[in-house]
Amino acid sequence: MPSALPEILFLGTGTSSGVPVIACACDTCRSSDPRDTRTRTGAAVRWTDDSGHPRVVLLDAGPDLRTQALRHDLWRADAILFTHNHVDHLFGLDDVRRFNVAMRSPIDIYAEERVWEALHRVYKHVFDRASNINDSFVADLIERRIADPDGANTPDPRSGRLPAAQGGSAVPIDIHGMRFTPVRLLHGHLPILGFRIEPVPGTDLARRALASAHNPFPFAWCTDTSAIPPKSWLPLTGLRALALDGLRHRSHPTHFNLDRAVDAAARLGADQTWLIHIAHEVLHARDEPDMPEPVRFGIDGLVLSCDQPPRIETGPGRSQPVPPVDRRSPDDPQPVRVEPEDEPS
Ligand SMILES: [Zn+2]
Ligand SMILES: [Zn+2]
Ligand SMILES: [Zn+2]
Repeated sequence: MPSALPEILFLGTGTSSGVPVIACACDTCRSSDPRDTRTRTGAAVRWTDDSGHPRVVLLDAGPDLRTQALRHDLWRADAILFTHNHVDHLFGLDDVRRFNVAMRSPIDIYAEERVWEALHRVYKHVFDRASNINDSFVADLIERRIADPDGANTPDPRSGRLPAAQGGSAVPIDIHGMRFTPVRLLHGHLPILGFRIEPVPGTDLARRALASAHNPFPFAWCTDTSAIPPKSWLPLTGLRALALDGLRHRSHPTHFNLDRAVDAAARLGADQTWLIHIAHEVLHARDEPDMPEPVRFGIDGLVLSCDQPPRIETGPGRSQPVPPVDRRSPDDPQPVRVEPEDEPS
């Protein structure tokens, strides 16, 4: 059961192809260490609101969402916030129709205009239900548009359309006592969103989270990031915890590699940083010791909660502590790495 205070559940921490990848015999893809199995990246924020209702907000809905929902016994999604429209972040949207049934209510979907264009194209059967030949079991979703967090009144480069809402800094999205503030990130040339997440300031939920022993809020979710624009550093200050793209050792045009993620994590200064969107080049036990304090590798099922140290939820009601990391100093013997072939990620 979700705790009353908010917590972050890392549903998946893998890159677009998932790990292990199909048709690969590298050390990671053949690893028996469960930390080397990474479903597609996404997260859930779980809490109980002031009136005692359990709440769940999903960050993206990737192709492994069904598996992830079953593993963690998710029965609802009050809202889904999309970071961008790549298929590894939205091809699980069809499966949320089961949440509609369980909750008996529609789901609020928050996305930027550019993402909505993709959602309408891919999920025509959901958003243009009247044109389906047979009436079928499709998700019941409410369209909500996220304004450009830069407040720029500039048209979208592809559609030529203005953002639906304009002006000022990022407009926070408040959902049942939790605040999700969109933050502009760059994924190669593609502008995408990260989210700063915290209880709405001044509320009882905020006060109780603040007084808790392991409060991870403010928390930020920054997947698929290759650059943080200058204006976005401010909304990412003062973080207790951060999830940040850290794809692999070698550089990549649209993702932070480990070195760049470590640099960005140091500049952001969160108390704890967990890398996500990790590819099969990274072997957890071999490579995590090279990360400097306080950077660690995300793990599928990782839970950052207010009242317990970070733990791994392995199934409904089952969890175990995150094993400690024995960090390697540059003087220690370095591991031998055989890099898998280069491929797009
Ligand atoms: Zn991705
Ligand atoms: Zn592999
Ligand atoms: Zn992407």
